[in-house]
Amino acid sequence: MVTVHLRLPTSVPEARECLSEGAVPIGGATLLWATWQRDGFPQQAMSLRELPEANVLERGRVGAAVVLHRMDGRMPDALRLAASQVGTGAVRRSATVGGNVVGSTLRCLLPAALVLDARATVLEADGVRETDLAELIAKRPLLLSLGWRDPIASAFFKGAGEAGGAPPLVVASALHDDDGTAVLRVALRDGHEFLAASVPRAADTARTLGALRDSALADAPPAAWDVIRSQAESLPT
Ligand SMILES: Cc1cc2nc3c(=O)[nH]c(=O)nc-3n(C[C@H](O)[C@H](O)[C@H](O)COP(=O)(O)OP(=O)(O)OC[C@H]3O[C@@H](n4cnc5c(N)ncnc54)[C@H](O)[C@@H]3O)c2cc1C
Repeated sequence: MVTVHLRLPTSVPEARECLSEGAVPIGGATLLWATWQRDGFPQQAMSLRELPEANVLERGRVGAAVVLHRMDGRMPDALRLAASQVGTGAVRRSATVGGNVVGSTLRCLLPAALVLDARATVLEADGVRETDLAELIAKRPLLLSLGWRDPIASAFFKGAGEAGGAPPLVVASALHDDDGTAVLRVALRDGHEFLAASVPRAADTARTLGALRDSALADAPPAAWDVIRSQAESLPT
């Protein structure tokens, strides 16, 4: 019989202790269960579901232990819509923000987090710190929460996917007020690759799109440009 000691820290110092003792982070186990069955079970796992810092759900912040189906109108549209289109209802009732952004390969929430320019609050052996999304994805530390400054408006698109096929195109956009300048931030998932760029929002959409074509999005597939254009046109002027 398999026994995994599930630890439920209720404070950050307790979570740090679990981490230092090798407990594996677990969200809703929608991915982990199959991994453990294939590769073997760890001695101990740590769920953040009793940790207040990982359960915050408010304007400008969402905790890593929040399950996707709880992400409501307090979230910017891009993030709420991204969460509402992950997998099936059963997956969304179990899967967590931390499991999706840090632990999955699909990461439908990531383009939305990228356009919000979200910062990650993480816990490591030497304590809590803030980092950016690139480092979060590269190093995969324990995520406590994501925080951002709310945009003026945001949008999200996910293409139709085929079972077992390539991940569908995902495009997110957000319009920000950057010290009086309107800035459009666009991010997308193309296959398993993520691209993001920000440009000043010009009065005319063609100029904004021109600037985006000269950015890190230059290699985005043609289908993405139709979506980017429509999102750029739909966001308020
Ligand atoms: C049927 C099905 C359909 C799916 N469709 C989509 C889809 O359309 N789009 C999409 O993006 N995803 C999709 N997924 C994947 C889904 O995103 C993941 O299953 C889910 O987000 C994982 O969340 P979880 O809380 O269950 O993570 P778990 O399975 O518990 O953990 C997964 C990994 O994340 C790590 N982890 C968990 N929490 C944290 C944390 N706080 N900090 C650091 N690491 C952590 C774990 O250690 C583990 O390595 C689908 C999955 C299924 C089963």
